Amino acid sequence: MYDIQKIREDFPILSRKVYNKPLIYLDNGATTQKPRCVVESITDEYYSVNANVHRGVHFLSQQATNLHEASRETVRKFINARSTSEIVFTRGTTESINLVAATFVDSQMKEGDEVIVSVMEHHSNIVSWQLQAARKGIVLKVIPMNDRGELLLDEYEKLFSPRTKIVSVAHVSNVLGTINPAKKLVEIAHAHNVPILIDGAQSIPHMKVDVQDLDADFFVFSGHKVYGPTGVGVLYGKEEWLDKLPPYQGGGEMIQNVSFEKTTFNVLPFKFEAGTPDYIGTTALAKALDYVSAIGMDNISAYEHELTVYAMQRLKEIPGMRIFGEAEQKGGVISFLVGNIHHFDMGTLLDRLGIAVRTGHHCAEPLMHRLGIEGTVRASFGLYNTKEEVDALVAGIERVATMFG
Ligand code: PLP
Repeated sequence: MYDIQKIREDFPILSRKVYNKPLIYLDNGATTQKPRCVVESITDEYYSVNANVHRGVHFLSQQATNLHEASRETVRKFINARSTSEIVFTRGTTESINLVAATFVDSQMKEGDEVIVSVMEHHSNIVSWQLQAARKGIVLKVIPMNDRGELLLDEYEKLFSPRTKIVSVAHVSNVLGTINPAKKLVEIAHAHNVPILIDGAQSIPHMKVDVQDLDADFFVFSGHKVYGPTGVGVLYGKEEWLDKLPPYQGGGEMIQNVSFEKTTFNVLPFKFEAGTPDYIGTTALAKALDYVSAIGMDNISAYEHELTVYAMQRLKEIPGMRIFGEAEQKGGVISFLVGNIHHFDMGTLLDRLGIAVRTGHHCAEPLMHRLGIEGTVRASFGLYNTKEEVDALVAGIERVATMFG
């Protein structure tokens, strides 16, 4: 049973007020709130364990190392990777993509080679590649979509050429909510002998992900979007690929032996983890993953799906409502505009009613160009949102619309 009241009680922030109104937090696509167990894990570890990992012989260092490495195992299990060698801790999705873009382009690509991305990517999955492209003369090719916000698979197929070296696509769009057919995208890339990165920033909090079943070569996500702390994220990479890629940053942890003549590098995954990792954060991330696992990812998906269907239906009752993203497979992200009301005005006035939504281009300007708009209002759901909150959102939008005549 999905005990929504009990779940909400796990998140202290949900009972606070803003402008003397109960907080209705609908900005989960940007970041999620934290359950008590995650926050407590951070203070507990600082209070009772804190010591730098991997390097110490003393008790605390070993305990901190054990916690850190146990968290890697929790992540491995959560996404069903083969081995913890395939789990690299990073600062988040953005750093994970930059790591792959920099090391892959550097070691695997030549001038004139091509990367395929899609029109609905977050800037982090565009600009990371563009930076490398500019340095080395790499070409970006873009998978288009239809007006419902679904990628055109036929067009995707046509983009492959002998110069295509990698594909990098979002699992779920942070603007449209489209759940892309990741398995199919992987299959098509592999049919062309091309590896593929799946950006799981918006999928990992909402659905079960099995990287072996998905068969993607890289899968990346951020801890803070899945009820974990800010500052930690994950790069999953198949061992065969991580082995082929050179180190990203130099420093402690990532080396085996250093001399002025020759330096050798550490084994996976440490080769990619230069410097002191956020070991407090990785423990807290593991707590967050344990938390959602205890509820059950399938239960979370089913609950959020029902909430999204309800919200879509209620929002469409509002006169002048335009929803961007009506894919058949759609997660709990709803972008909209109402009449001629500017997204910023709508967001600001909803905020005064205690409703937190996001406004703007959502770090997806190329997608805004495709849609022919400057920005949207975006409501994005988490596992603790309710139909009553959707009703409050609808009432809030109607009130703002009335104010604007
Ligand atoms: N990719 C997608 C699809 C996102 O939605 C986001 C954040 O909104 C990111 C990447 C970047 O995540 P982060 O800022 O946590 O690195």
